[in-house]
Amino acid sequence: MENKRTEIANLGEFGLIDRIATGFSNEQKGTLMGIGDDAAVIAIPEGEVLLASCDMLAEGVHFDLAYTPLHLLGYKSVAVNLSDIAAMNGIPRQILISIGISNRFSVEAVDALYDGIRQACKDYQVDLAGGDTTSSRAGLVLSVTAIGSQKPEKVVSRAGAKVGDLVCVSGDLGAAYMGLQLLVRENKVFQVNPDMQPELPEEQAYLIQRQLKAEARTDIVHELAEKGVLPSSMIDISDGLASELFHICRQSHCGVHVFEDKLPIENLTRLAASDFGLSPLTCAMNGGEDYELLFTVAQSDYEKVNQMEDVSIIGVIREESQGKSLILKSGQVVEIKAQGWTHFKS
Ligand code: ADP
Ligand code: MG
Repeated sequence: MENKRTEIANLGEFGLIDRIATGFSNEQKGTLMGIGDDAAVIAIPEGEVLLASCDMLAEGVHFDLAYTPLHLLGYKSVAVNLSDIAAMNGIPRQILISIGISNRFSVEAVDALYDGIRQACKDYQVDLAGGDTTSSRAGLVLSVTAIGSQKPEKVVSRAGAKVGDLVCVSGDLGAAYMGLQLLVRENKVFQVNPDMQPELPEEQAYLIQRQLKAEARTDIVHELAEKGVLPSSMIDISDGLASELFHICRQSHCGVHVFEDKLPIENLTRLAASDFGLSPLTCAMNGGEDYELLFTVAQSDYEKVNQMEDVSIIGVIREESQGKSLILKSGQVVEIKAQGWTHFKS
């Protein structure tokens, strides 16, 4: 199939912005004015505060277009930002996206990128309220700003964990990291022999999807609210469980005990890890990019969180002086290291 290629220069900056904007409609009541003027006009629900977060993604640093389809890159760049709003227990409402793009990219490539962005906006019910477009000398740069809101008393920071609180995590851990290992390996094969298509057996599809199509756990935020559970602290897992536990402990001035046998690790992740000679535990603790929510709740909420299907209770908050420990299946206690790679390597 021949790919159509239209140069961005043919459209010009305004033409490109118009083309981007036509695919989007505003669904949030609060989006009073979106794309098209000097600034977006946004109302937040009465009695709520605004939450804002931004992330920048640079080609070759945060993503590799050799194995990242542009529509999934668009989707993921939105999802990971909404994940930050979810991690504050907020409801995401609008995003702003700035792109720097070189003439290596065609209009069709920008379309693919925004197809993914549009899909994410639809899935998470957020509006694209604006952005900026510039040329870049080399490669693609994306900056996403997410805007959300919540009642001030419902905003959850990293700082509220109390001794005795239960440590909970949504979903499963380590799969996104294994997905990346698979993609990097297949890409190597691909570079040696360009005629060879990457071979990705179906059982690996889950891992690849976890890497390429990250999801923000806004569903968990809603479920916690329905159950009447307000976490004492929360963070999203972008850099790996160990690192996020460090953030919570540092900002809440506490320690933590986590149990290896409680960690949610999919069988597919275990199989792939053993294929790569890695310990599944290392992948779960240090892999990163899971974009699950790590949160703490009072012990009195045990029944409620225990009923949540996609939430695991993995540990308990301790005094700061008791340190950060991982209790292995063998009963052995090891200190959690933020960079625990070599420490846990099998
Ligand atoms: P200005 O010169 O004031 O920065 P622009 O011409 O850059 O205005 O943008 C015009 C409108 O298009 C603004 O509402 C801006 O938010 C929006 N916009 C520009 N680039 C993008 C983009 N990549 N994605 C979404 N909206 C964009
Ligand atoms: Mg501008």
